[in-house]
Amino acid sequence: MTPLMHATYKGKVDMCKLLLQHGADVNCNEHEHGYTALMFAGLSGNKEIAWLMLEAGADADVVNSVGRTAAQMAAFVGQHDCVTVINNFFPREKLDYYIKPQGLNKEPKLPSKLAGPLYKVITTTNLHPVKVVYLIKENPLLMEAEALKKCCTVLDLICEKCIKQKDMNEVLAVKMHYISCVLQKCSTFLQDQEDKLDAFIKNLLKGRDPDCFPVFQEKFIRECIRKFPYCEATLLQQLVRSIAPVEIGSDPTAFSILTQAITGQVGFIDADFCTTCGEKGATKRCSVCKLVIYCDHNCQKLHWFTHKKVCKILKEKREKQEQEAAKEKRREEKLAHKAEQIKTDEQLAETEGASNSQTEAEGPAVASAAEGLEGSKMAAETNISISKSH
Ligand SMILES: [Zn+2]
Ligand SMILES: [Zn+2]
Repeated sequence: MTPLMHATYKGKVDMCKLLLQHGADVNCNEHEHGYTALMFAGLSGNKEIAWLMLEAGADADVVNSVGRTAAQMAAFVGQHDCVTVINNFFPREKLDYYIKPQGLNKEPKLPSKLAGPLYKVITTTNLHPVKVVYLIKENPLLMEAEALKKCCTVLDLICEKCIKQKDMNEVLAVKMHYISCVLQKCSTFLQDQEDKLDAFIKNLLKGRDPDCFPVFQEKFIRECIRKFPYCEATLLQQLVRSIAPVEIGSDPTAFSILTQAITGQVGFIDADFCTTCGEKGATKRCSVCKLVIYCDHNCQKLHWFTHKKVCKILKEKREKQEQEAAKEKRREEKLAHKAEQIKTDEQLAETEGASNSQTEAEGPAVASAAEGLEGSKMAAETNISISKSH
């Protein structure tokens, strides 16, 4: 192992920076199993270091002695944040290529002022369409139909390159295509309506009756995937196979399947994702139903027009569940108390029996044994209901 490999594996950010500044070879893989510094970063699970290695030019496609890439190794040990970073890395130079006129063209494909804002959009790891719209709204330069169309053209070219290059990158191709589709839609909305994309956000969030499932959003994401132009791509076929049998309104959603394919995130087990924009780490709960969470007041406000239709129903449902849980708890406590009581009685009887004569002791001892049996049976039942409720 080189010093850089050691530093990445131990998660020492400053040491990594120092070594890189002094010319450490980020792509050295003379390790006995062909590991690279990026692979060690992936194994250690340090996102920042993985990003550092990639920025320093680490080749994510290099494989170790058993043919595994850094992303695959990170996934194998459950470091999904690192997988996300590796799979979503896109060097700025590859985008900046389009701000210079190429070949016989006098004009570049991408006005240089758009490169920065667009780079921010394409490096997002949250692919929720509302999040992408947020990123567009954040920058006035992108809030223009023509500018967005230019961005789409560039993204489509990058997508094509990802598929046609020697070391094909389907993940990146699908991501670029998907973002291009969202941008395209934004551009149409900007052309038709002067409401700064609010109507598009509303469409994406609007829930159907009675379960408030966002049908437009689901159909939109499915449509984006369907429009992917390279049908021979394995990833596309996988996506279609996963999405096609799912009825609209059921799990998994197209968004979760797409996210899983692109970021490597497995499912949405920990439910701290914003209901509006899909951002991780949301903490603000709807104060009425307490069942949906948001990043902030803004996300809640945007969702309220559709959530208000089900909020009360959700609240009643939750309260009923809580009442039932409380009832169950009381019942269990009562049973536990009874069992405890029987045990104490039994102990009392035993001590009494010891001090009394043998014949006298025989009576209560049998009775308490029978009771004890019942008590232990009850305790067993209690255990079952506890493990069930768990
Ligand atoms: Zn949010
Ligand atoms: Zn609510």
